[in-house]
Amino acid sequence: MTPADPVDDFRAAVAQLAALADEVAAERSQEEVLEALTDLRVAVTRAYRGRRPRSEFGGARGRILRHLTKHLGEWVGSDEIAAVSGIGEWARRIRELRWEDGYEIEEGRGRYRLLAESPDHARQARFRTVTSIREMKGPVDERVLTLLRSLVGTAVTADELDRVARGKTGATVARQIRNRDLLPIETDADAPDLHAGEHRLVSMREADLLHPSQRLFPEDLRRQVFLRDKFTCRTCRRGHPGADAPADEVFYLEVCHLDAAPDAVVELSADRVGRLARLAASCNECMGASAPPWR
Ligand SMILES: [Zn+2]
Repeated sequence: MTPADPVDDFRAAVAQLAALADEVAAERSQEEVLEALTDLRVAVTRAYRGRRPRSEFGGARGRILRHLTKHLGEWVGSDEIAAVSGIGEWARRIRELRWEDGYEIEEGRGRYRLLAESPDHARQARFRTVTSIREMKGPVDERVLTLLRSLVGTAVTADELDRVARGKTGATVARQIRNRDLLPIETDADAPDLHAGEHRLVSMREADLLHPSQRLFPEDLRRQVFLRDKFTCRTCRRGHPGADAPADEVFYLEVCHLDAAPDAVVELSADRVGRLARLAASCNECMGASAPPWR
């Protein structure tokens, strides 16, 4: 008996699948169709003697990418992605495509869609930066600070902070650093262009440190003051430039107390310090200038 020719098996499986077309159209006999599909796969594997295609994106990752590219801009369900990938760990492959390869893949309600055909190399480089900082030895606050410094002037996401914080909450560590070192680290409480969980170190210069009185105004209080004042300085009326800030201009908001100069706020009772009606938003320049609003 001669061994079966894999090409004959291939033809038979293709014919079997074609014969089932009406069943598929009627949404019947799914098991039979999948069985025929398995026969086809086996025949293909035999025909190529088990050799797998070697390419940059071979394997499950490549199959997912090709499928998403074919449906560029369209939502694809996770069931479909699982089927295309043929593996259980397809979600991990999506993460790799996103972060390691820089593909912009949106996720929502168990569905995914590829937004651009080519990967974003800046995104890829950024992922590598975050990964290398995550692997640094030393205390967690040093890693978080290194991340903020390496991306000074740009928004760092909650996800990136958490990755370098390795098991701690990155936002909590960033808040501690702000309080301890008085670095101008903004959150969505301070800047209208930041989303919840994002942080941005505005400047590393000694001259741009926060006034020590800012330790008295926690984030929720800052949020109330800046929202009410529409992120605008009470003295010079300049609004927070948000994402449109010129790269060389340092602008951030601080809380000033209308009843006391910044150096004297600490002498007020806690009750007076927190009185919203006596607080105002001030830009960093006016905070250090000679005609502040508390005069
Ligand atoms: Zn001002």
